[in-house]
Amino acid sequence: MIDKTAENIHNSSKIFVDWVEKYFKELENYPVLPSVKPGEIKSKLPESPPAKSESYEEIISDLDNIILPGVTHWNHPKFMAYFNSSSSDPGIFAELLSAAFNINGMLWKSNPASTELEEVTLNWFRQMLGLDKSFWGIIYDLASTSTMQAIVAARESLEDYSIRQKGFGAMAGKPRLRMYASEHSHSSIDKGAIVAGIGLDGVRKIPINSKFEMIPEELERAITEDKANGWKPFCVVATVGTTSTTSIDPVPEIAAICKSENIWLHVDAAHAGVAAIVPEMRFLLDGVENADSIVINPHKWMFMPIDISVLFTKHKGILKQAFSVIPDYLKTDEDNEVTNYMDYGIQLGRRFRGLKLWFVIRRYGTEGLIEIIREHLRLGKLFNSWINESKNFELLAPTPLSTICFRAVPPKIKTEDLLNTFNKQLMDNINSTGKVFLSHTILNGKFTIRVVISGIRTKEKDVKEVWQIINDEFYKLI
Ligand code: PLP
Repeated sequence: MIDKTAENIHNSSKIFVDWVEKYFKELENYPVLPSVKPGEIKSKLPESPPAKSESYEEIISDLDNIILPGVTHWNHPKFMAYFNSSSSDPGIFAELLSAAFNINGMLWKSNPASTELEEVTLNWFRQMLGLDKSFWGIIYDLASTSTMQAIVAARESLEDYSIRQKGFGAMAGKPRLRMYASEHSHSSIDKGAIVAGIGLDGVRKIPINSKFEMIPEELERAITEDKANGWKPFCVVATVGTTSTTSIDPVPEIAAICKSENIWLHVDAAHAGVAAIVPEMRFLLDGVENADSIVINPHKWMFMPIDISVLFTKHKGILKQAFSVIPDYLKTDEDNEVTNYMDYGIQLGRRFRGLKLWFVIRRYGTEGLIEIIREHLRLGKLFNSWINESKNFELLAPTPLSTICFRAVPPKIKTEDLLNTFNKQLMDNINSTGKVFLSHTILNGKFTIRVVISGIRTKEKDVKEVWQIINDEFYKLI
């Protein structure tokens, strides 16, 4: 039998704490992107579960030999793909404690501390972002969930529809629902629309300008046209920090349109929103004071292990109206005095995610967090200037934050197709070095390489080394 005493936890946890310490010491020696082939990890693991208990030493040995070679090191200072999610030590310790407590914060009563800590830390976070008190916050796992729930709340806010109660079957004769997001909005908007029963046909993509920002006049035109054609516009999603280029939709203008049309405005600031804690970047959330909801992921740029996403909304009551279903066994004496977070979303059980916010904000302080993000923004500008000055590369989008979109333009290659092939090969070669991981997007049909600078361990020397690797691989390929 396995010994479950505190003494055993002491002995075995030391093995793991030592392992984690060694991992971070050696992190930079690992290839950022593993070179394993599909199926390789699976082929090394037994097909059936072990009947007898195995020791932690045996498990760790397989972790080292089988799992580690297949791990992509998101914490590596030269992980610059997608939108980074890097974990700080207070974030890691908070996760450890969350697992140790193993609470379920569905109700205030089921764990008063997680409920009240969530309320307090979200109030802190709201102030750090410069959002006013009318915004109430809730933690979910991911931005995809936050946005889906905002869409459901927007749907619920419609008078005369009662879809929660009656379902879409009772909609016969009523105008179909339509929502709007820019052509560069994230796929989670479409998924939210699928789940909310709006359907992909119910999502109208609004054209963007040359800076990849939604064009408000096009939004206005689409709404007018849709109304004339029998649709019911009910929700707009503006993006602050789009996934490909971090472009920023003009929220003040979009908010004005939503107000005059009485449409719910949700702002997707999953990655970029955190940057608004830097005083000179507060403009990122201009206009959000007139939005109905906004999602920001601390796990993307606030150094907490995935997952933690925050939805702020001005309509706590509508969210509750959309989701609350209280069976007898979950009724408590305190229901009228407290927040029972299970009432505000699809999930019943809830992890102790507020610990991550609490630990990270306290350990760094707001000033410490501002300093790290400000440095990322400086490094972004620096990298941008290197591309600008190089004859071999060109920028393919503005750099409002610290995500740089560019491609190589070797003088001998003249056609767009060949340029796309060259840049894809260049990125693959860069990633094959194992020293850095970059990802791509397509902008105006052009294969675009992205460098994202938002990892907590990323320093100027890393950014310089990445630029050197890009140049070395460029010269090897031409
Ligand atoms: N919104 C934007 C702008 C994103 O870039 C992403 C992911 O990168 C998401 C939403 C989805 O985030 P999540 O993985 O937390 O669902």
